[in-house]
Amino acid sequence: MRAPGRVNLIGEHTDYNAGLCLPVAIPAATTARATVLDQGPTRIASAQQDDTWSGVAADAAPGRVDGWAAYAAGVLWALEQAGYVIPPLDLALDSTVPLGAGLSSSASLEAAVAVAAVTAAGLDLDDDLRRALVEACRRAETEVAGAPTGGLDQSAVLLARDGHALLLDFADGSAEHVPVDVGAAGLQLLVVDTRVSHALTDGGYGSRRDQCEEAARRLGVGSLRESTPADVATLDDDLLRRRATHVVSENTRVEKAVHALRAGDWAELGRLFTASHLSLRDDFEVSCAELDLVVDTALQTGALGARMTGGGFGGSAIALVPAERADAVRRAVDVAFVRGGLAAPGHLDGTPSAGAAPV
Ligand code: ADP
Ligand code: MG
Repeated sequence: MRAPGRVNLIGEHTDYNAGLCLPVAIPAATTARATVLDQGPTRIASAQQDDTWSGVAADAAPGRVDGWAAYAAGVLWALEQAGYVIPPLDLALDSTVPLGAGLSSSASLEAAVAVAAVTAAGLDLDDDLRRALVEACRRAETEVAGAPTGGLDQSAVLLARDGHALLLDFADGSAEHVPVDVGAAGLQLLVVDTRVSHALTDGGYGSRRDQCEEAARRLGVGSLRESTPADVATLDDDLLRRRATHVVSENTRVEKAVHALRAGDWAELGRLFTASHLSLRDDFEVSCAELDLVVDTALQTGALGARMTGGGFGGSAIALVPAERADAVRRAVDVAFVRGGLAAPGHLDGTPSAGAAPV
């Protein structure tokens, strides 16, 4: 059993505004070794944690489990709620997705458990079942782990295809596969984990959501997806106007990115990455010094484009670079972090990879 992490190519803070985003699954992944037991309870262990969870699905109902086990065992509860009968299991998890780096170790963990569970139940992991697992994993994270999520991460991790990005439209819930053959174009997609998380700004995500909702309310629309740049320009409040400007312009950038990918116009994709970063930095104000440092350094070292990815205030950034410049970009980022007195960042491969699989 293998379930990848994910990185969002473009389309940030658009999901909760009924907008567009474009994630890819990455090679880093959570693996699950599953043994079906003659009798319960189910046991779940992770190489990344000291404690083991043991129980039946009902023991993982909302409010009955906390910590990391809520993400893992919560999936068993959500699957039972959805009517799946899962045999008792011994599950051993291990992951190469860094925890809390914005690369969705949580959805990766959930998907690994979900795929292990339905495989043990003898089910065939077809597209319908994948979509059902997206919902079960989303419920586990939202209702059991208590971390509200719109399903972007779970969709990316369970639905992505090798060599493709997933265009997600949160207005109608649709998902479309878009080819991203970076390797054939002589490019690499680098992921840099800044290894910082600015806990003091934890309220930042909630306040951005509230500001977007308020902007939509003042514009008289159900969501900012329905607004144009001309509409947004009419907002009197400077802060709300800038927040809404990011969301509306970001949706357009996702559309342009899909066109650029289909046309093989990598220079344009790079420009869109960088424009997205500036919008997140200046209008949405969710970047931070470490993310800006990665982006600026990558651009100075030959990247076609670079941007923060994920919610912001830390986490990871991506850079689209000519393959022959990849080492130079990684080294330049390392040097910039040393000079900035920062702990060494992590480097990951962002090659668009396959979604969760029962292998
Ligand atoms: P992200 O998904 O961006 O990595 P989250 O805060 O959403 O960050 O999820 C991280 C949490 O998910 C961890 O604190 C832990 O509770 C859980 N988790 C992720 N991966 C594992 C793992 N391999 N083993 C156990 N728990 C994990
Ligand atoms: Mg997560």
